[in-house]
Amino acid sequence: MTDSTTFPSTYPAAGVGIATRGMSLEEPLLFESSRPGAVGYSLPKADVPDCDPASVLPDEFLREDIPNFPELSEPEVVRHFTRMSTWNAAVDLGLYPLGSCTMKYNPKVNERVARLSGFANTHPLQAQELSQGLLGSMMDLSEYLAEVAGFDHVTLQPAAGAQGELAGVMMIRAYHEARGEQRTKILIPDTAHGTNPASAALNGYDTISIPTGDDGILHPEAIEPLMGPDVAGLMITNPNTLGLFEENLVEIAKIVHNQGGLIYGDGANLNALMGIARPGDLGIDVMHFNLHKTFTTPHGGGGPGSGPVGIKAHLEPFLPKPVLRTHEDGGVFLDNDRPQSIGRLHGNLGNVGMMTRALTYIRFMGPDGLKRSTEMAVLNANYVAARLKDRFVLATGDRPVMHECVFSDEHLEGTDVTTMDVAKRLIDYGYHPPTTYFPLIVHGALMIEPTESESRESLDCFIAALLAIDDEARRDPGLLHKAPHNTRLTRLDETRAARKPILRWSPGSGE
Ligand SMILES: *Cc1c(COP(=O)(O)O)cnc(C)c1O
Repeated sequence: MTDSTTFPSTYPAAGVGIATRGMSLEEPLLFESSRPGAVGYSLPKADVPDCDPASVLPDEFLREDIPNFPELSEPEVVRHFTRMSTWNAAVDLGLYPLGSCTMKYNPKVNERVARLSGFANTHPLQAQELSQGLLGSMMDLSEYLAEVAGFDHVTLQPAAGAQGELAGVMMIRAYHEARGEQRTKILIPDTAHGTNPASAALNGYDTISIPTGDDGILHPEAIEPLMGPDVAGLMITNPNTLGLFEENLVEIAKIVHNQGGLIYGDGANLNALMGIARPGDLGIDVMHFNLHKTFTTPHGGGGPGSGPVGIKAHLEPFLPKPVLRTHEDGGVFLDNDRPQSIGRLHGNLGNVGMMTRALTYIRFMGPDGLKRSTEMAVLNANYVAARLKDRFVLATGDRPVMHECVFSDEHLEGTDVTTMDVAKRLIDYGYHPPTTYFPLIVHGALMIEPTESESRESLDCFIAALLAIDDEARRDPGLLHKAPHNTRLTRLDETRAARKPILRWSPGSGE
């Protein structure tokens, strides 16, 4: 038996590459630690006459007491939040191999620039003449993104990849409607991210699933029979979620375009192409970027997302409004006179704080740096694949991968251990688990995206953890079934957590 809190001697000691020995997650709510009478502030006595709230506020806005208001001292509140802040799994603590999500390091220079007063303190409703620096920077960012991915225009408004998809498919729909065409279907490969069919369905389209070939990519023969005048377009992710380059994309785009359809590109995997291939040159008409993936803005709980959308010129009339434009005198302004626009998607320009970070990253890296980061991301994924392929089964066989590699659970056959068990055990070793059970066409998928941020030493450490866990799966499966062990909460009932989430504390809930 392996002691659940120690590691095999083959596993490197904590040091380079490993974040922590296990993650530690549990903290009472402020409501639970409340002590009646405790106060977190003290104000001097007012030197003006007291004002009776009842004399200035209507009755409906008055109350005697705030129910369940937590009472704590200032240090108690500070410690509560500081403790929780140290329990985050974050890319600043260690490798975060969440496939398809590009959890790469966020350079600190981004934060510095985003905090410059001209960016951070500009009110969204400030007069445009007084915001030229900021608007000009946004214009620069949209031009850089258009250049990186090969598009004619970029809108920065959407607040995430998913909203970018929604915007993109709305533009596709507006394009067909403007031509007087009623198209009802969208083709989507069976490896697609769930947001693709959701974006199509939200636009009222029926989604048709296209089977991926045995070699993990799409083939013109699968598309040809489905493509017709009733199909608005095809949504495609390149490289796809198996980490493979869609080699037939140009030919597939021709088939779709010949029948009047458009190609939507899911740009979440741009980290495998940046500086090397441009989606716009491969036949894609419209594509979202995920600034929080490819362009190093915070991801997940670290900040809001940002999902700009690049388009080819024929979709220009339908861009969300307002559209950033340049005057003849060089000034930048917001154009609201857009009769064919799909409308507004965000209260203002979008999540501007994220855009200043992404712009900083692009300027900092320059064209050569962006290309080099792509090369390193692809090299790292192939290194992980090569080091693990004798013990784990690559879903893509011997083909070189792009920026991520996907394993099936075939190697666990006969062990009574699942991909979920392996993922949970990784937490004990200090790693956020990779993406699991996606893409759906791979049985028990484990999808690893190391990104270019990791050194060889860091990858070796992660690989050692996976190999050690694979040994444990054979020697002591029970250990894995109950993992994680080094966390305050061990294995949770995920079905119950999803079906009956407890989102709000209430007196006596006791949970
Ligand atoms: C992350 C992702 C999305 C959705 O992007 P969000 O920014 O999370 O909304 C869509 N498709 C793929 C392939 C992704 O990895």
